[in-house]
Amino acid sequence: TNQAAAQIGVTGLGVMGRNLARNFARHGYPTALHNRTTARTDAIMAEFGHEGTFVPSHTAQEFVASLERPRRLVIMVNAGAATDAVIEEFAPLLEPGDMIIDGGNAHFADTRRREAALRESGLHFVGMGVSGGEEGALNGPSIMPGGSAESYAALGPMLETISAKVDGVPCATHVGPDGAGHFVKMVHNGIEYADMQLIAEAYDLLRYAGGYSPAQIADIFRTWNSGRLDSYLIEITAEVLAHTDAKTGRPFVDVVADAAEQKGTGRWTVQIALDLGTPVSGIAEAVFARSLSGHGDLRAAARDLAGPSREAVADPDSFADKVEQALYASKIVSYAQGWNMIAAGSEEYGWDIDLGQMAVIWRGGCIIRAKFLDRIRSAYESNPQLPTLLADPDFAAEVTAAQNAWRDVVATAVGSGIPVPGFSAALAYYDALRADRLPAALIQGLRDFFGAHTYRRTDADGSYHTLWAEDR
Ligand code: NAP
Repeated sequence: TNQAAAQIGVTGLGVMGRNLARNFARHGYPTALHNRTTARTDAIMAEFGHEGTFVPSHTAQEFVASLERPRRLVIMVNAGAATDAVIEEFAPLLEPGDMIIDGGNAHFADTRRREAALRESGLHFVGMGVSGGEEGALNGPSIMPGGSAESYAALGPMLETISAKVDGVPCATHVGPDGAGHFVKMVHNGIEYADMQLIAEAYDLLRYAGGYSPAQIADIFRTWNSGRLDSYLIEITAEVLAHTDAKTGRPFVDVVADAAEQKGTGRWTVQIALDLGTPVSGIAEAVFARSLSGHGDLRAAARDLAGPSREAVADPDSFADKVEQALYASKIVSYAQGWNMIAAGSEEYGWDIDLGQMAVIWRGGCIIRAKFLDRIRSAYESNPQLPTLLADPDFAAEVTAAQNAWRDVVATAVGSGIPVPGFSAALAYYDALRADRLPAALIQGLRDFFGAHTYRRTDADGSYHTLWAEDR
């Protein structure tokens, strides 16, 4: 008698869905299983059935009937059309008060649309960002659920139980209504792109201006990982750089094709940032750098263009120290930009997102997990209205202390012909924010000249237009 035996159900038992289901069951929640291809459900039962109480189903009807009410039904399938198809299949079988939880990487606009449509039939739709990949899903991901407060009351305790914990605090929280969860998951991925680009630039500088070998750079990253840069991405950078290709015996990084791929969340972040008018130049440069790396045609056509030769600096050790400072300062800028984007989305869509809480739930479980995030938490705790992380007294002191080294590193990169779009965009953002006057004044003048777009003055209110033909 499996009737209504399960507290939660997962449909879509791919890499992520199966591990999330096992995570629920391992924490003592009887978990219903369903997958379009039923053989997959059977195989998972055979392999992992002993790990907890599972209630497998071969049909959608059985699956729905096996869930206690209000039902909690997690969908873990590919974003887009597959998610819509699964929602269409299950929604008619559910009753008011039931919850459909989409754990895929949906676009937040799709989540808003789905939430609004299902709300009409009294169903709660929870767009839930999940980070941490396959391993995280099984052992504790960072979880970013959106949707109604009512759905979080019924679902939140379970999510907090299966999530990663840092200092005993769960890496799961109610982000905000409708698409808020998927929105912050998207920005998380954007920040991850920026982090990886900065790391890649630091490597490139250490290699070609520092003169270090990949194995030596691995050691440098290992040292950095015991300091303020302590994070998952810095840790695995050391591992990847220390890895030797089994086939050739060469450094692994030298046998990998240098064309970075992407699945789209970084691109979404930049697209939405453009719509919101929030400058996330670090993320944008990271997305463009990946795209540029894949343009073999352009790179081949430009290979013979002139540039300086890449010579090692005189004092590689002190250079490595400066690169650490440049990386750290650029990272602060990139997180400042990401947090401002979350604030802008929250404002635009009325989500009332607690900015400090996003740092709390990203301290563990996810790809950008880092000690650093605790600092962001405390920055917003001291001042919930903080306009930018760069204005937090602690971060301000750190970037100020790093700025000379940061400038030296960017100057060295420019002098040696090493592209550092992430480091230099971050520095340009820093300098633009601190500038007394920006050349935007001239842009306004040009716009008024050719298009009568008007301008505002520094010494009076109102908008002005100069009669350019007459004043000349
Ligand atoms: P996956 O291993 O490829 O599994 C895909 C699952 O979706 C399978 O169970 C498949 O069922 C099902 N499916 C696909 N199209 C369907 C349809 N039209 N109707 C019903 N079921 C359908 O994918 P995954 O890596 O687990 O990813 C699942 C979701 O999690 C995606 O949205 C992904 O972006 C997101 N995500 C992934 C990661 C990661 O690290 N992999 C991290 C966070 C979020 P069949 O067995 O019948 O084919």
